[in-house]
Amino acid sequence: MPLKDYKEKRDFSNTSEPGAGIGKQDVQRPGRKDRHPIFVVQKHYASHLHYDFRLELEGLLKSWAIPKGPTLDPAVKHLAVLVEDHPYEYKDFSGIIPEGNYGAGKVEIWDNGTYHSLNSKDMEETESRVREGLKKGHVSIILEGKRLNGEFALIRLKDAKKKNWLMIKKDDEFAVRGWKIDDDGVRKGIKKN
Ligand code: MN
Repeated sequence: MPLKDYKEKRDFSNTSEPGAGIGKQDVQRPGRKDRHPIFVVQKHYASHLHYDFRLELEGLLKSWAIPKGPTLDPAVKHLAVLVEDHPYEYKDFSGIIPEGNYGAGKVEIWDNGTYHSLNSKDMEETESRVREGLKKGHVSIILEGKRLNGEFALIRLKDAKKKNWLMIKKDDEFAVRGWKIDDDGVRKGIKKN
């Protein structure tokens, strides 16, 4: 029941987040051949503004809430708190979660694209490396998005709850020192919308 926590936190008669049908046969997900898995970053104006970073993994979205958001600055380490798996369909969700519901507030898609692991030949290999990385507490991925590009690491902190990770930009050609979250990322090598 990988989506049990997700379902338990939400009342789907009161929120337009994906709910009905999740985990059933009628969910359309592209096949795993000839594509990379997707990632999405949702800007979430909840009681505390944060950015939700999600990676497609074996039909679900592994999810971290990042209070300060992702960064392209390799000198900065941002806390990323592992939260409950989300259904794959959540990648397209934007809108308002009504007052009184879990995570009430506006959700915008801030970035999206695909990801893969270094030198992986296909999606299966990427997913198995990410699965392995989640176990050992060190996930390395290459993002191809509109705002986020290049290599990133997620590193688990050694705290009791194992929920706290750091997201760190690797110092590669897409790194931008001094980058701030509201920058539009207009720079050679960074694709604009
Ligand atoms: Mn959130």
